[in-house]
Amino acid sequence: MSTSPERTLNNLIDGVSRPGSSGDVVDVLDPSTGARVAGFTASTPDDADAAVQAARCAAPGWAATTPGERSAALHRLGDLVSSHLEELADLEVADAGKPWTAAHTGELPGIVDALRHFAGAARATTGQPAGEYAKGNTSFVRREPVGVVAAITPWNFPLWQAVWKIVPALAAGNTVVVKPAENTPLSTARFVELANEILPPGVLNLVLGIGSVVGEALVTHPLVDMVSFTGSTRAGRRIGQVAADAPKRAILELGGNAPVVIFDDIDLDKAVPILTNGALYNAGQECMSATRLLVQESAHDRVVEALKASLGQAVIGDTTDKNTVLGPLISERQRDSVHRLVESRPAHSTLELGGQAVDRPGFYYEPTIVTGLRQDDDLVQEEIFGPVVTVQTFTDEADAIAKSNDVPYGLAASVWTRDVGRALRVANAFGFGNVWINNHMVVGPELPIGGFGASGHGKEGGMAGIEEFTRVKQVVVSLD
Ligand code: NAD
Repeated sequence: MSTSPERTLNNLIDGVSRPGSSGDVVDVLDPSTGARVAGFTASTPDDADAAVQAARCAAPGWAATTPGERSAALHRLGDLVSSHLEELADLEVADAGKPWTAAHTGELPGIVDALRHFAGAARATTGQPAGEYAKGNTSFVRREPVGVVAAITPWNFPLWQAVWKIVPALAAGNTVVVKPAENTPLSTARFVELANEILPPGVLNLVLGIGSVVGEALVTHPLVDMVSFTGSTRAGRRIGQVAADAPKRAILELGGNAPVVIFDDIDLDKAVPILTNGALYNAGQECMSATRLLVQESAHDRVVEALKASLGQAVIGDTTDKNTVLGPLISERQRDSVHRLVESRPAHSTLELGGQAVDRPGFYYEPTIVTGLRQDDDLVQEEIFGPVVTVQTFTDEADAIAKSNDVPYGLAASVWTRDVGRALRVANAFGFGNVWINNHMVVGPELPIGGFGASGHGKEGGMAGIEEFTRVKQVVVSLD
């Protein structure tokens, strides 16, 4: 791949770079300017088939490697990614609109760290001991790779999501076809190119294309054994239905709508920077964003004033500027969708801050706070996916728990109080897969991430995230 401002991307199938065969060129835009930075020819179902066939052919050889061999290969990949960190971070800035500092000092180092974790975990599996569970027989359990995995990734954390799917799948002995989101393929394409310098041909393949065409072709392909998907609940439902029909395994990481429960004994000095980052990080396009605040009535005014001051000071700017905190939304469509929700706020609510697109090129939106919302308002029930904080009040612990859980999503939640017992009671009562006490959005590869309800099912990260990519077989040996 060239490093010139305009890039042409290709599929990478069986170690060979070739364009998709539809003839339709897809433009990739820089969301901070709206300018074209790259393009690719969209793939067809036949291209998807070629990638799956390559992954299928490579599967027995890769599955036969030892955990130690896979670990060594993935550690080498970690070294290679680390030595290309600046280049990959720049690609994340270019098509995902990430502020320079977030990409270079946060996400890419985190991606390398995750790669190293998964590389190490490949040889650290645990399980039930062999034993005479049935009289006269010794039984043991094998964990085997599932086979060919289709990894379908979103645009909000392009390389992060790709690595959290691809690397545990490879670590467990599977082969992979990855299809990145059509608007953010740059970093994944480069990562796959780097990985193919180390992995045998066909072990990791890339197809570029439209979700409803090439994504669908992968999910429906009879030789794909498992799908790992992150994205919208809409696409997740469709993928879940197709996978159920086959049937085949699907991990679905869908949207979120995290409650942030604030009691009046909150340590506001500690909380405000964390909540500001939690609301504005990745311009709020994060399924765990701290954007649905539930504040005890007695604390409402001081919490809102503190957040207004903090969010209002966020540096909005060029994504290549190291001081920029708030970058653009991914597309004009995403910005319109956020603005539509803010514009249609109910009459009983109050717009405390923002509420408009920023007057500059690209797809920026102002940090926004809406207060006075009620539980059944769209702004409370829907995933906004923008830098928009909603505020409701609650009366007591039971009211806080009821309102927190009364949304379709179940991905993440936080509770803020100095009362340890209350914090633990609320954490236990949350119907969410990732819970923080006096913090928000702290994640790392050693721990499993994954939601309940409309947020999907399955875990990414931790040992659970590797085991998801295995199938369990019991073997019973007669001692007679
Ligand atoms: P999307 O779900 O359409 O896209 C995510 C990925 O799925 C892309 O690679 C896309 O090509 C692929 N895809 C789409 N339809 C498919 C299908 N039928 N079969 C297989 N693959 C398919 O997301 P979007 O429309 O770009 O975003 C819309 C909303 O989704 C956002 O506003 C946000 O609320 C939510 N979202 C959530 C996450 C998350 O991290 N959970 C990420 C992105 C978007």
